[in-house]
Amino acid sequence: DSVFNHVVRAPEDPILGVTVAYNKDPSPVKLNLGVGAYRTEEGKPLVLNVVKKAEQQLVNDRSRVKEYLPIVGLAEFNKLSAKLIFGADSPAVLENRVATVQCLSGTGSLRIGAEFLARHYHQKVIYIPQPTWGNHPKVFSLSGLSVKTYRYYDPATRGLDFRGLLEDLGSAPSGAIVLLHACAHNPTGVDPSLQQWEQIRKLMRSKRLMPFFDSAYQGFASGSLDEDAQSVRLFVADGSECVVAQSYAKNMGLYGERVGALSIVCKSADIASRVESQLKIVIRPMYSNPPIHGASIVACILRDRQLYHEWTVELKAMADRIIRMRHQLYSALQERGTPGDWSHIIKQIGMFTFTGLNSKQVALMTAEFHIYMTSDGRISMAGLSSATVPHLADAMHAAIT
Ligand code: PMP
Repeated sequence: DSVFNHVVRAPEDPILGVTVAYNKDPSPVKLNLGVGAYRTEEGKPLVLNVVKKAEQQLVNDRSRVKEYLPIVGLAEFNKLSAKLIFGADSPAVLENRVATVQCLSGTGSLRIGAEFLARHYHQKVIYIPQPTWGNHPKVFSLSGLSVKTYRYYDPATRGLDFRGLLEDLGSAPSGAIVLLHACAHNPTGVDPSLQQWEQIRKLMRSKRLMPFFDSAYQGFASGSLDEDAQSVRLFVADGSECVVAQSYAKNMGLYGERVGALSIVCKSADIASRVESQLKIVIRPMYSNPPIHGASIVACILRDRQLYHEWTVELKAMADRIIRMRHQLYSALQERGTPGDWSHIIKQIGMFTFTGLNSKQVALMTAEFHIYMTSDGRISMAGLSSATVPHLADAMHAAIT
């Protein structure tokens, strides 16, 4: 008789479970549009050429050892990551007002940031957009924050519910933390315009709301690293505090390396150094120190002018391919005369299209067309190719009509 007999089977993760179901399907036409990982036109995972070059450099360097990194990770990686998101000439970086620690990709960065805020920030409530990435509420509540939502997406316009957003943030308690997607909002693909970001910033600063940016797609949305960082830089430019979680999963294709960074922008170098000392207290009992390989790859690329340039070219090519898929899917639906306005497919930004398909329609597409996606109708454009667009368009047409 087992002491674990009472353990009931937990459901699969709603996003990662899509891949589990896909893997079990023997159909040759099956298509996985669930998880957000980039695929080539041939449907294959992509290791960036600059990543291969950086790894070669690391292998050739005989002086490299496999010692533990410090608790906060690789110092050079941290500095370069802060410059990447805030800008090389950012006063916050130049004045050493930013505490940056290497974390386990975007998820780990969000978790460390949330754990720190739960211990050291006076307001324990965090507002997350409705809808948002499914892991957000779990990460934040398990960190000890209390999770509330603010209106974000309007299903009627398939666009931003800007008025709802301003109303909800306007009635949040003073000091509340607000989770913002830096760009390429997941799952909706809907981002505020720069003018709207400025209005959000003004409102948030007037109410002393704490911005917590999730930057999982820098460079992946527009193809430009600077453009995709504009929202964050707008907030940092006013001199007040701000928290940012960065991931290199998408923009360097380093998914499984688990490399990311948490930055807390402070008002002085002294405060930043005290904040960093407390981040170490959070990290040490969780995993002691982060892994060395991915951060070394990133540092190699960010420090070298030539590799950095090659990275921006490869990044732009990934972003452009995703944008091309949007246009091809839109045209394919037009050709089929699929009822409804599908212009949101080309208007939305980043890896995902929030199609507007409901869970019944998604179930039909899976059952009859072997197309896998999350039940909220989100499809990963990065998993599509010119060859598979017609199959998806047929399935969407069948589900709608
Ligand atoms: N935030 C958002 C909005 C995401 O979409 C993702 C990845 N799906 C992450 C954070 C974290 O990803 P990772 O931990 O792999 O960097």
